[in-house]
Amino acid sequence: MKDSFGRDITYLRVSVTERCNLNCVYCGKTDCAKKENELSAGDIYAIASAFTRCGITKLRLTGGEPLVRGDIVEIAGRLHALPLQTLALTTNGVYLKQYAADLRRAGLDSVNISLDSTDGSTYRKLTGADVLHRVLEGVDEAMRVGLSPIKINAVLMRGVNDDGAADLVALAKDRPIDMRFIELMPFSDAGEDASRIVTNDELLQRFPTLKPTGEQDGTARICTAPGFAGRIGFISPVSHRFCGTCSRIRLLSDGKVKPCLGDDTVYDVLPYVHDAHALTERIRQIILKKPAGHRFGETTTAHGLNRTGG
Ligand code: SAM
Repeated sequence: MKDSFGRDITYLRVSVTERCNLNCVYCGKTDCAKKENELSAGDIYAIASAFTRCGITKLRLTGGEPLVRGDIVEIAGRLHALPLQTLALTTNGVYLKQYAADLRRAGLDSVNISLDSTDGSTYRKLTGADVLHRVLEGVDEAMRVGLSPIKINAVLMRGVNDDGAADLVALAKDRPIDMRFIELMPFSDAGEDASRIVTNDELLQRFPTLKPTGEQDGTARICTAPGFAGRIGFISPVSHRFCGTCSRIRLLSDGKVKPCLGDDTVYDVLPYVHDAHALTERIRQIILKKPAGHRFGETTTAHGLNRTGG
């Protein structure tokens, strides 16, 4: 269905838990998330089902870290029964090696893996954990079991990991994956320091061999490089806002719906979960409340960043 600004809302991101096994420096998640407050697999299915009745065709499991949920394969299997075009997952990849085959069998189509550095020591500084090798094994396993497409997402922070950008680009040389750079969003204290943001325009200048194909894959501008098996993507929520074409809505792990990632307003749907009709109507009303645009950048001051409304 269309929201009140005429945007087709087709893409639901489901945060199945706010818990995480990593502690990334730029992430705005709190570490007090509780398992007791999480929706059950059945509730997730009921709510996602109501969303499909409102026009959702693509669903992504995310978090927190979705693979810390012991019932993630069951959740994927239930959602696979819905009339979706794509069932996807975003993960830090630490547990992907052990889950990839079961998730694929359960009906998962594709996976995005977050990886901000290929240097073990920088990876540990960014995430608090010495598990880079496990993430790389997870990427290999995802390819082996046939998850497709496979996208690796990296967030660069100036002076922290941006010197490793070339090594990240190189991941797509021999692998048929999309290596994508996502601009740092101001979620946390670290993110609010705008001088840390490496805009994608700056990054593109550093890699003159990357050639824009003119393709847009969702929110990513796509580039190729000579001899590469994979592609490089640039997602620029801060410097080139894409709110005007945003198709997304988010279900949080406690049953609240968040129409915009960059706006704190949430709406509870859990009280409606046992009445499919009321739940669907509630979701329709929430979709109509999606705001025109995000509020990232309102507190950042760096030259070159678009302010909200800009
Ligand atoms: N735990 C999973 C993972 O690591 O992919 C899923 C949740 S994580 C919050 C989803 C994505 O958000 C990751 O790719 C992460 O890099 C990105 N992210 C988190 N904080 C961010 C920020 N301040 N700016 C840009 N991206 C961010």
